[in-house]
Amino acid sequence: MAVDAKSILQLKQYKLCRCCLERHTDAGRIKPDSPCYICRGLMDDLDSIVDRIMAAVQDYEFDTFVVGATLPTQIYEREDAMRARLKIRGKESIKNHLTRELGIRLVRLTKRKADYMKPDITISLAVDKENNLEVAVKSRPVALAGRYFKKSRGMPQKQDKCPHCEGKGCNMCDNSGLSGYTSVEGIIAKELMEMTKGQAPKFSWIGSEDQSSLVLGTGRPFSVRVFNPKKRELGDVRIKSSGVSATMSVQEDILEPQARFTVKTKIHAKCANAITKEDMKKLNSLAGSEVSFENRFRVATKKIYSARARQLDSNQFTFTITADGGLMIKQFVGGEEYMKPNISEILGSKCECVTFDILDVALQQ
Ligand SMILES: [Zn+2]
Ligand SMILES: [Zn+2]
Repeated sequence: MAVDAKSILQLKQYKLCRCCLERHTDAGRIKPDSPCYICRGLMDDLDSIVDRIMAAVQDYEFDTFVVGATLPTQIYEREDAMRARLKIRGKESIKNHLTRELGIRLVRLTKRKADYMKPDITISLAVDKENNLEVAVKSRPVALAGRYFKKSRGMPQKQDKCPHCEGKGCNMCDNSGLSGYTSVEGIIAKELMEMTKGQAPKFSWIGSEDQSSLVLGTGRPFSVRVFNPKKRELGDVRIKSSGVSATMSVQEDILEPQARFTVKTKIHAKCANAITKEDMKKLNSLAGSEVSFENRFRVATKKIYSARARQLDSNQFTFTITADGGLMIKQFVGGEEYMKPNISEILGSKCECVTFDILDVALQQ
């Protein structure tokens, strides 16, 4: 950078550290001095700042990082005032200079890469006007996708949120954001939090089932993001606890929660009146038909692709259907929510769903 002789003379009026000189003139033109007029020793403290950062990141697994900093306005004001008075521009801002120097040292020490777009961890420095320093580290959420199975009845799919933090994570819920670990969601969340040392896992489910339902076959797809994980190199994850099992793997892109899917469901139903073989034939003829119902905004339709009814005794039967995801099984059996057609109506007898089990969930392209 061309700084003329006059500016050099003027710069000499200021005490500046090596780094703050470098931003305004070529190295070696002026001897560094302290305390630095601009940074008051901050830039001479890089090694101890790096030590603080190294201590803060030591528990985190990461391949890439970014360093950000918030500096007190007084530092910018002093640098701006000096530049204005000497009519010089400087090579870069002190903030860029600081974070760049820290980045260079961290690359050397950690053997990890700097990445501004999608870093695994974000290191944030906050410097106050006395040059007191705080270091905070936050990691990018780790995303997993997989399937779960439920081989015993009674476990709900979802967990209520922690009433104290509404799911954000707090001391009352050990940062899970959940009311407990008594559901498929809770069981998977607890294990993932232990594995990742992260917090407040957020799930997306492909469909839902009842507490009393089994989930069999190839299981139900779901995805989950765990926030602020310390461990992120998880590979394939397997969880097995309390009749729930799940397999999942780390994803770059999360499963689209609006994905279209079909579900094969085995319904166990009970009728108020006796049923006949003819009734079972009527149910089988539902294959290929569409069920319509009103939800809050519009009339929705769900297609039934296959149907197979089997009588169990005088008033009970099983009915195995493959249908579009989102068909509400209990209402389809009982005839609530203006479902048309529905099983109670077809059989001319009030029917009720005893249980329904998920035999398969297939994602559609
Ligand atoms: Zn300085
Ligand atoms: Zn909480």
